[in-house]
Amino acid sequence: MNSLYSIFYSITQEVSALVRSLLKKYNIKGGTFDQHFLVDTDYLDRIVAAADLRPEDVVLEIGAGIGNLTERLARKAKKVIVIELDPALVRILHDRFDGVENIEIIAGDALKVDFPEFDKVVSNLPYSISSEITFKLLRHKFKLGILMYQYEFAARMVSQPNCKDYSRLTVDTCYFADASILMKVPKSAFQPAPEVDSAVVKLVPRPAPFEVKDQAFFMDFVAAVFSQRRKKLRNAILNTNHVLKIPSVKEVVARLPEDLMNKRAENLTPEELAQVANKIVDLKKSILAEETKEQ
Ligand code: SAM
Repeated sequence: MNSLYSIFYSITQEVSALVRSLLKKYNIKGGTFDQHFLVDTDYLDRIVAAADLRPEDVVLEIGAGIGNLTERLARKAKKVIVIELDPALVRILHDRFDGVENIEIIAGDALKVDFPEFDKVVSNLPYSISSEITFKLLRHKFKLGILMYQYEFAARMVSQPNCKDYSRLTVDTCYFADASILMKVPKSAFQPAPEVDSAVVKLVPRPAPFEVKDQAFFMDFVAAVFSQRRKKLRNAILNTNHVLKIPSVKEVVARLPEDLMNKRAENLTPEELAQVANKIVDLKKSILAEETKEQ
């Protein structure tokens, strides 16, 4: 063992022991509510470094657990606001941080609580709500997200057309933000160890890089056509029209670009999917206008 590694190893052992003793003292088993606490100090420090915190930054942390990441974030940021669901962990957070001026604790479900204003979000997320919480976050204005997900979820967020992980999640993510995987995190970095590997994703929100005429319809369209990802787009649209509710759907599909209709959703770029969705929006409008004129 070299000396730097042995220092990291012993600090990680200390954090691990702290987690174990707090869980025992407060009678928490871990494992429920996605409770896998990050104890490897190397990964904790790399996550904080990736957040590139400034003294003026207000940080949101979702699912603070016993506060291992919180403590490190609070050393660099103006303020850290944490949202934690489990009342037993909320008690630990209060016992640990009530004297610390720049940490605010919100007890509750992050899916239901109104988010405060924040500049950056840094979290080891509860994996079972990854999708809902990410798109709730992306409806807010912020500069940077450094977020831990299950590895497979992260891979789908950053995928490319024609790849097996390219999905609705890829297109929706690309609509709101630039996403990249910063590091893969092994199960052994957590306590208790989860059954899956993890990855830290960097999210930088920005305006969509392509035009979308009707955001709600675009989202529904992407969900619908990826539910039939192996079908040509023409058939995927026809098969899901009970959801999409496109009037005179056969006529609309016949007027959509044929080259794109012959491809599958998994072969189209987000921009091409937006082009088709926009064209449907235009055609729906002209069909409605024609119908009104005839009446
Ligand atoms: N951040 C801590 C760490 O890295 O050690 C804990 C991360 S653990 C993967 C996820 C945390 O999210 C747990 O503390 C769990 O109680 C909390 N949690 C689960 N569902 C939640 C929800 N809907 N809202 C807020 N917190 C939640």
